[in-house]
Amino acid sequence: MRYISTRGGMEPQPFSETLLEGLAPDGGLAVPEQLPQVDPQTLERWRALTYPQLAAEVIGLFATDIAREDLARMTADAYADFPDEVVPLRSIGDGITLVGLSEGPTLAFKDMAMQFLGQALEHVLEQKDRVLNIVGATSGDTGSAAEHALRGKERVAVFMLSPQGRMSTFQRAQMYSLDDENVHNIAVEGVFDDCQNLVKKLAGDIDFKRANNIGAVNSINLGRIAAQAVYYFWAWLRVTDAVEPEYREGFEVSFTVPSGNFGNILSGFYAKSVGVPIRRLVLAANENNVLDEFFRTGVYRPRSASHTFATSSPSMDISKASNLERFIFELLGRDAGGVVGAWSQLDAQSFFDFSALQPRFEAEFGIVSGMSTHTDRLETIRSVYEGSGEIIDPHTADGVKVAREHLEQDVPMLVLETAKPQKFAETIAEAIGVELEYSDEVRRMLDAPQHVTEMADDEAALRAFVQKHALR
Ligand SMILES: *Cc1c(COP(=O)(O)O)cnc(C)c1O
Repeated sequence: MRYISTRGGMEPQPFSETLLEGLAPDGGLAVPEQLPQVDPQTLERWRALTYPQLAAEVIGLFATDIAREDLARMTADAYADFPDEVVPLRSIGDGITLVGLSEGPTLAFKDMAMQFLGQALEHVLEQKDRVLNIVGATSGDTGSAAEHALRGKERVAVFMLSPQGRMSTFQRAQMYSLDDENVHNIAVEGVFDDCQNLVKKLAGDIDFKRANNIGAVNSINLGRIAAQAVYYFWAWLRVTDAVEPEYREGFEVSFTVPSGNFGNILSGFYAKSVGVPIRRLVLAANENNVLDEFFRTGVYRPRSASHTFATSSPSMDISKASNLERFIFELLGRDAGGVVGAWSQLDAQSFFDFSALQPRFEAEFGIVSGMSTHTDRLETIRSVYEGSGEIIDPHTADGVKVAREHLEQDVPMLVLETAKPQKFAETIAEAIGVELEYSDEVRRMLDAPQHVTEMADDEAALRAFVQKHALR
């Protein structure tokens, strides 16, 4: 399996090569030359596998240049500290089941992919005898998942920029409590966009990038997309465990996905295309509803950073959705010229209009959407708590709210639980008046000494810092 760019300007590359790059050289995103296929018999054979074993099979569909026994070792190591089932399912009534993706070290779903990516990067860098210095910007979740996945790795260093004084106590502790030599926390005087702009300046300087082995692990990374496809297979297998064997083949379920950068739901779209019987993929947005607008109307109108709301489901606060380009590529019949055309339309008039294609979004791709506000979130946390005793986090609540609007008779609805409620204790207290207890482990993390370098919003200072501490 080789990978090409959504904009048509990249020589086909193996999977392991795409892991080390951010964007393709032409500014596009790497996609499989053709999507792999899994038949129903193979799906049945995978029923007996543990989560790490299933992960090796599913990721192996994409990572054909990595030996299967190496993949099996990586997935076993990646999920070793998770509970036995790794991804637990639990019903909350009304035909809705939560798919637990937040059992990893940072209590959010980014761990599912990042823990695998950490293993994969180490392996690929060892084989190529290279090192990588990851430079990234975070508003909280991605940075901490990356640091926890890469800490202590010999061939990778992480330089993570975060906006000074703008993260929650919990998020700060999750990152700054790490004291590994290869983890560098940099608190920038500014907001998230200032951090991101600094990273873009460095990443845009090809000479600096080459000289310092700079890389990225952002949400467009194919290793993350492939690792996220696994739990769609897993959830389907666990739901159909309860179905009579003769009715399992083709038994359809729907998924609702709390969405931001369109990474998680894109993995679901790939899982569906590969052969998981998925009826609908329901996209749940918060007040930053650019994707909901797109899937309802066909018009894509990204927001400027200053028009992006700060909400109580902050990990879905996006201005534009970086992975959407991979969907557009499939929508346009894999026509790279059409993708480039859409972006130049966007540049010229700040939106593009696919309303003529919109009916195909559901008919052909199964994607529908909805949105949820702060009031909806609080009401949903409350009603789920009253109905089932389960406490759900604000992002998952956005999912449940939108899922309820898309229930269909006899089609199980699975909602991806993208974070643990402990991470957002203030919103939980506001919704149901319950003060959540932290585990001993979390309490230790919150009390630990913090390691962070404060820096002005200054490109020269950042360059000097990276140059001084980069692995060579
Ligand atoms: C990142 C994140 C999301 C959004 O996922 P995308 O892949 O960006 O669509 C949703 N919920 C939580 C808790 C997250 O951390």
